[in-house]
Amino acid sequence: MPELPEVETVVRDLRPLLIGRAFAKIVVSRKPLRTKWSRAWEPQIVGQCVNVVQRRGKWILVGLDEPWMLVHLGMTGQFTVRPASDSRLPHTHLVFTLDDGNELRYRDVRRFGSVALYSNRSALDAVFRANRLGPEPFELDAQYWRESLLATRRNLKATLLDQTVVAGVGNIYADESLFEARLHPAIVGASVKSKHAETLRHAIVTVLTRAIERRGSSIRDYVGGSGRKGQMQDEFRVYGRTGEPCVRCRTPIVRIRLAGRSTHFCPRCQPV
Ligand SMILES: [Zn+2]
Repeated sequence: MPELPEVETVVRDLRPLLIGRAFAKIVVSRKPLRTKWSRAWEPQIVGQCVNVVQRRGKWILVGLDEPWMLVHLGMTGQFTVRPASDSRLPHTHLVFTLDDGNELRYRDVRRFGSVALYSNRSALDAVFRANRLGPEPFELDAQYWRESLLATRRNLKATLLDQTVVAGVGNIYADESLFEARLHPAIVGASVKSKHAETLRHAIVTVLTRAIERRGSSIRDYVGGSGRKGQMQDEFRVYGRTGEPCVRCRTPIVRIRLAGRSTHFCPRCQPV
């Protein structure tokens, strides 16, 4: 599933391709996405210009003259700008024709993603508030983070995955961040020492920054907004490396199940 670095890469790719462009026409497939595209939205966006392309957590925000579009890539979503002459791949569910001969396409094999329209930015912010979406990892306040960990009996893996605590981290970057911080994923939040909470806060930023520089991880269907893949999958240090030697100490990487998810760590570098 695309996480913060993948969504950030899509946003950075789309920005120069979309800003200043106007929507001309919309083509909708018969199969609905998680949020069904409403025919009533079409007249609201045709002729509208794109002013802003942003990310919040794992969400993509496209600000038009009036309405805002909110996009989630779900498990297998691809949100790309392609020349109209490029053939449309199967599972392309929404096509927004642009005024420059390109098309903004939403493709999603498993259809867990969504594209929805909101009347303005504050309607969008209300959605984030209703979901209690937590702060961005790059803006994580040290005291807030320390208190969030102290307040939970859940383990670190579960806490990192909780979008209300910190937005944008998913299974891959939770495992990679805990390895970076040398913390065992099953440690209970409330028992983490202050200095380790601080190490983890910095580790999250380090890992996400590195992943953004590599254009995210292309496992399954993920591609950036220009259709180019990411390279971070070649540099995972624990995720998906069960039984392979730790890059620090050569101990085989172990996989366990935590918070309902596959969790990878080095038993020597990340002691309980
Ligand atoms: Zn190790």
